[in-house]
Amino acid sequence: MGSVAPKTAVTNVRVFDGRRLLAPDTVVIEAGRISAGPRGARVIDGEGGVLLPGLIDAHVHLHGRHTLEQLASFGVTTALDMACAPPELVNSLRAVPGLTDIRSAGTPAIAPGSPHSHIPVVGPRGLITGADQARQFVADRVAEGSDYIKIIVGNPAPSHDQATLDALAAAAREHGKLSVAQASSQAAVEMAQRAGVSVLTHVPLDQPLNKAAAADAVAAGRVLIPTLAMMEGIVQQSAPPGRDYAAARASVTVMYHAGVPILAGTDANAEAGGPAMISHGSSLHHELELLADAGLTAVDALRAATSRPARYFGLGDRGVIEPGRRADLVLIDGDPLRDITATRSIRRVWCGGAEVQPSHQFAP
Ligand SMILES: [Zn+2]
Repeated sequence: MGSVAPKTAVTNVRVFDGRRLLAPDTVVIEAGRISAGPRGARVIDGEGGVLLPGLIDAHVHLHGRHTLEQLASFGVTTALDMACAPPELVNSLRAVPGLTDIRSAGTPAIAPGSPHSHIPVVGPRGLITGADQARQFVADRVAEGSDYIKIIVGNPAPSHDQATLDALAAAAREHGKLSVAQASSQAAVEMAQRAGVSVLTHVPLDQPLNKAAAADAVAAGRVLIPTLAMMEGIVQQSAPPGRDYAAARASVTVMYHAGVPILAGTDANAEAGGPAMISHGSSLHHELELLADAGLTAVDALRAATSRPARYFGLGDRGVIEPGRRADLVLIDGDPLRDITATRSIRRVWCGGAEVQPSHQFAP
């Protein structure tokens, strides 16, 4: 899948610059990067389409090479894995030309008896029983190549005690790594925030986050990856009592209006027996629609899947279209600032300059 193309000029495209659509112009792809001069390039007529930076899904689960191929075919050219083991699997799939670029938490920190402790490979590897094991846990992950540290705070009820969470977040900070807390209940979010984690992922289905929770996140510079696709999937696929998608949606509305940066992530996974299966790639387009439905402007929804995750996860070579950046590009029809569903009209995809075959097989 994918081949390194000769220098290519995509003409007559409107570029999303992170704020608006610019007048039709030419974007040049050369040696995997966006370059400035079209001289000598083969020409592809963009026919007035819109060119977006390659999309970033800030919460997926990696199962193998096929995961990355599927993501790329839907224009998701970067994915942040939020739990995967063993580390050899992730490391063998890093920086493969023409494939979605993967970053990974590797093994997450899991409490004994929690649902995650029963997941094969990940469960036993990630088990930690107290605060005294936190530093070693984080050091082991860093040694394995984890890009950030994932902590299962609650699923949905809190599992680790506060001291363990505090120690994990502190150890991640000492290593200069972001800590990402899985927190899908009120109580779990409170504990994660008290521990000082960098990133919250999921949103409660029990009751919406309130203004105080949002103010805590803003004060700490914390970001949120709500994974609305997953929260909706849980309610639709397993319908647990006392859970309501409306709480998840309302949480995003409150956090967004308070100024908490929202990143688009889906929790895409193919784990039979998990809370909900979410299709890789197509689900990110649905996430953008759910974020817009929760109150994000179309511009903010697009930023949530481009420049914003690039910025918060330190991916300085992508997320915007300008010379020198990776040639991660999605050519679509229609105007996504007027109608966010236009991102589904994928015409062409480039992943690190290699053109890949787009898919139109959107999950229902
Ligand atoms: Zn997940």
